Amino acid sequence: MKHFPVSERSLKLPRPLNLIGNEFLPAASGAEMDVLSPLDGKPFTTIADSGADDIDAAVAAARAAFDGGAWSKLSAAERGRLMLRLSALILDNSEDLAQLETADNGKPIVQSRADMQVTARYFEFYGGAADKVHGEIVPFLQGYNVEVQREPHGVTGHIIPWNYPAQMFGRSVAPALAMGNATVLKPAEDACLTALRIGELAVEAGFPAGALNIVTGRGDVAGKALSEHRGIDFISFTGSPEVGVMIQTAAARNFISCTLELGGKSPQILFEDADLEAAIPVVIKALIQNGGQTCSAGTRALVHRSLWDRVVADLKTAFEGIEASASDETAVLGPLISARQKNRVERYIAEADAPLIARGGIADGTPEGGYYVAPAIFGPCAPDAKIAQEEVFGPVLAMIPFDDEADAIRIANGTEYGLVAAVWTKDGARQQRMAKALRCGQVFINGYGAGGGVELPFGGIRKSGHGREKGFAALLEFSHIKTVVNHHG
Ligand code: NAD
Repeated sequence: MKHFPVSERSLKLPRPLNLIGNEFLPAASGAEMDVLSPLDGKPFTTIADSGADDIDAAVAAARAAFDGGAWSKLSAAERGRLMLRLSALILDNSEDLAQLETADNGKPIVQSRADMQVTARYFEFYGGAADKVHGEIVPFLQGYNVEVQREPHGVTGHIIPWNYPAQMFGRSVAPALAMGNATVLKPAEDACLTALRIGELAVEAGFPAGALNIVTGRGDVAGKALSEHRGIDFISFTGSPEVGVMIQTAAARNFISCTLELGGKSPQILFEDADLEAAIPVVIKALIQNGGQTCSAGTRALVHRSLWDRVVADLKTAFEGIEASASDETAVLGPLISARQKNRVERYIAEADAPLIARGGIADGTPEGGYYVAPAIFGPCAPDAKIAQEEVFGPVLAMIPFDDEADAIRIANGTEYGLVAAVWTKDGARQQRMAKALRCGQVFINGYGAGGGVELPFGGIRKSGHGREKGFAALLEFSHIKTVVNHHG
């Protein structure tokens, strides 16, 4: 199997510059940082290592666009048309973007291609929705007309992670633009090249200056400066719970609201009547997709005791056949994002407080220096074992047996997180009971969708965060209500 080093790939690299007011600019300090490819751990380009000055400039550009600039003068339909043009440009450039994503993030090329379709779909969905957000008329006293209007917040800040760089860009920024906000994006320093390239495409599509600004750099410098900036009116964050707390604290200090999407420990619940032929491949994909670095990865398999031996045998066989690799086209599991993430996941595996059921491998000839981790399954895990409670963010599955429905509900709801859950049963009444009992933001019945699902409101409760992304719900998050009471007599 051929593993292409990044140096042999013909990549269309974006300008390693910030996008501020439709100009491509280096960091004010001139500082740059290396971009390492997870495929081989080697640097292959640079990005701007921006500071508070750059965030100031981006927020000022967004403010000018929102307060009287060309962006503010567009009708909702015109905004939508620009977004549809960007969606088409993403599709036209999807293969180049996918190659770039794989070099930058390490994910298998098949996954990167799927990601570009989803990214284009975000701009298509929200472009189409831009002129479909209506206000309401409220019946009130005689002589009054009362309108409830939806207005954009103003300047919105967006801080996104490295696991789905292009998709997260679309998911966070597209609904904000559709509502007419002017945006400042701080993508993740570990993988942000497709965000920069899509920024170039936005300029090509004709977005007016300041509608979309992108500033790269470190979380504790550029990210912090954005989250604390007094010039932003709303902040959308996806990433770790630890940083989520800082974002919410900064938002509180500025008296603005925020959405937080902070990950999960999502259960796949297999009842005694589950269709295992259908369920097992989905359980594997929901974990292995993106190397387990998915907020909604199905990282806990809750299995009825009557099925335990069979499910363990099937998953053991499957996992022992999975190899992490950098090969194009056939790879299902790539490297993790960074040496730090690899070490974190290896530590969870080494210190797991449950028996190891199976371990996959790392393919022969995989480039040295890449961040490859062989997948692992543990079980039977106690529901409160560390490996069954904490978000590992790697290809690690915790299997937990259960006895009955009440037991399954207790275990499924028994973590600090609450993002997604799946229920595998043919019993219609049980499907309804489980959907009601599970404490999380999305429930799949006899299926699972980690990522994608642009139309489906998505988000969590408790440590998984709050607020909703995706679907029409995201448009409402990126707007606020103004009630206009007109006493006409
Ligand atoms: P992180 O929260 O540090 O980074 C996410 C984003 O926040 C990045 O853009 C980063 O630059 C920015 N950031 C970091 N510190 C900041 C600060 N002080 N102020 C403002 N912005 C800041 O996540 P990570 O360190 O890359 O990953 C650590 C763990 O977080 C992972 O192992 C995983 O468990 C979790 N995670 C979850 C998601 C998700 O989709 N929910 C995504 C990435 C990571």
